[in-house]
Amino acid sequence: MTSNNSFINCWICGCNKIYKIKNTDINFDSLDTEDFQITNSQYGKTLDLYKCKNCNFIQAAKASNLTKYYEKMVDEEYEETRKERFLQEDYIIKKFIYYNKSGKKLLDVGCGSGILLEASKKYKFQSIGVEPSKWLYKKAIKRGLDVRCGVLEDIPNSQKFDVITLADVIEHVTNPMDILEQIKSRLKPEGIGVIVTPNVDSLLAKILRWKWWHYRVAHVGYFSKKTIKLALEESGFQLLSIKNTRWFFSLDYLVKRISTYLPKFLRISKAPFIGKKLIKLNLGDSIIVIFKKS
Ligand SMILES: [Zn+2]
Repeated sequence: MTSNNSFINCWICGCNKIYKIKNTDINFDSLDTEDFQITNSQYGKTLDLYKCKNCNFIQAAKASNLTKYYEKMVDEEYEETRKERFLQEDYIIKKFIYYNKSGKKLLDVGCGSGILLEASKKYKFQSIGVEPSKWLYKKAIKRGLDVRCGVLEDIPNSQKFDVITLADVIEHVTNPMDILEQIKSRLKPEGIGVIVTPNVDSLLAKILRWKWWHYRVAHVGYFSKKTIKLALEESGFQLLSIKNTRWFFSLDYLVKRISTYLPKFLRISKAPFIGKKLIKLNLGDSIIVIFKKS
């Protein structure tokens, strides 16, 4: 199952010793914007995946020009899970607020319909967001939030921030080192960066193997604690904290998701006791990373 692809370099360490670890029959050109939805549940469906011999980073090496899929993205289910996602974002803010010393200007990259921006109001942040999906951008604007339609590059680097957050974003890009560089040029000297991303080295990822829910077409870069640390070091950042994060689900959403693995659960999911009850889970398979310029 392995083959050398010396023509492609590792997105993190730049070395050319990457080899194929997952062979798929998915043709990149046949993908649709639906394959990139936030709530897409085709777990295990990915592009061909490659691993770096030097740093172990896993990447969908042949993915490119992904922004166009996100620009057209519509995701009603994402909006329906807003309440749980709000708690999720509130939890993330509580995790980084201790390290936020310099001021209250926050930029949320890939802000969706602005859930983190809304949650940040409680903590007196003056937050702006940037989001490529026109549909999600419009949702955020309707809520009176300060959001630009676009990507991080569209925020001029003359604008400096105390906090830049990327919650479940960096695994979606083919140029993570470039993104870290862009964060650096937009952070104030004492500003902090916050990244939330799945951990490909987690126990759950190992148990579920290729069926792990974070293996999906939209995820093109798979970080571990080791590779995210390396990426930050190489970009001139100092790591402040790296921890597992918690997830918030409504019971019905969770049951529906589990039924992807165990079809019998589908029957249970129709039972009347399954409702919007909120569940907190620490699955240990997602990390929150906090860093500043070194
Ligand atoms: Zn590498």
